[in-house]
Amino acid sequence: MLFKIKKNGDIPVLMYHQFVENEGDGGKIKLYVTRKTFELHLKIIKFLGYKTITFKDLDKIGLENRRKDKYIIITVDDGYRDNYDILYPTLKKYNMKAVIFYVTGVKYNTWTADDLGEKKFNLMNEEEVKKLHKSGLIEFGGHTLTHPSMVTLDNSTLKKEIEDNKRDIEKIIEEKIITFAYPYGHNSLRVQEMVKEAGYKYGVSTDSGTGFISDNLYDIRRTAIDKTSIFDFLRKVSPKYLHYKYKKRGNKKFKDEYEK
Ligand SMILES: [Zn+2]
Repeated sequence: MLFKIKKNGDIPVLMYHQFVENEGDGGKIKLYVTRKTFELHLKIIKFLGYKTITFKDLDKIGLENRRKDKYIIITVDDGYRDNYDILYPTLKKYNMKAVIFYVTGVKYNTWTADDLGEKKFNLMNEEEVKKLHKSGLIEFGGHTLTHPSMVTLDNSTLKKEIEDNKRDIEKIIEEKIITFAYPYGHNSLRVQEMVKEAGYKYGVSTDSGTGFISDNLYDIRRTAIDKTSIFDFLRKVSPKYLHYKYKKRGNKKFKDEYEK
């Protein structure tokens, strides 16, 4: 099976952030897709015969069986209010699933609004998170309290960012969570180890990882979909894309300020 996966590629893992009604509603850092574009993406995914799954589904399917069917994982970072207003109803329309990585220590995008002068966008509140969780279409995962670059944090701050965020989410949804996304994709062996120690089973990144999930469950490569043309979207949903990206770009190394 492993040989077959290496040859035919792995489950595509897509990364989104925000969803807007109109182009002008987004921020200057263009981390969004419009409702219309997202709906087109879902239509393409459906047309290609993919089933959208979450990491909890993957856990049940079993890593060794993951290419026996045509699976794809849609992930969404930060947990903006628009995930409730636009992402969720669109998923519901097509009966598709996604994984949302939720920041719990702040109420809006402080890391870009306060530091880079980006527009403020609210994150979801507890009631909204609860409702999405109950729908069965959304898996929630961790994404820290305040969205720092984790490689710059000392061990005790790092631990707090991971563990308190996990506790917050589990308290809201009354269920254990198993997946974590590194803010900005920044990770190191020290950071991965800490995420594992906190009880997570999977860690997803952006510009690192080989493109094969089982090579390192704490460095699962994803492809960014914001700003993607439809032509690129078609390439990015191919099971071979993430490994191709790894071969072309390699692993981006993030300087860990505390790693021995
Ligand atoms: Zn993020």
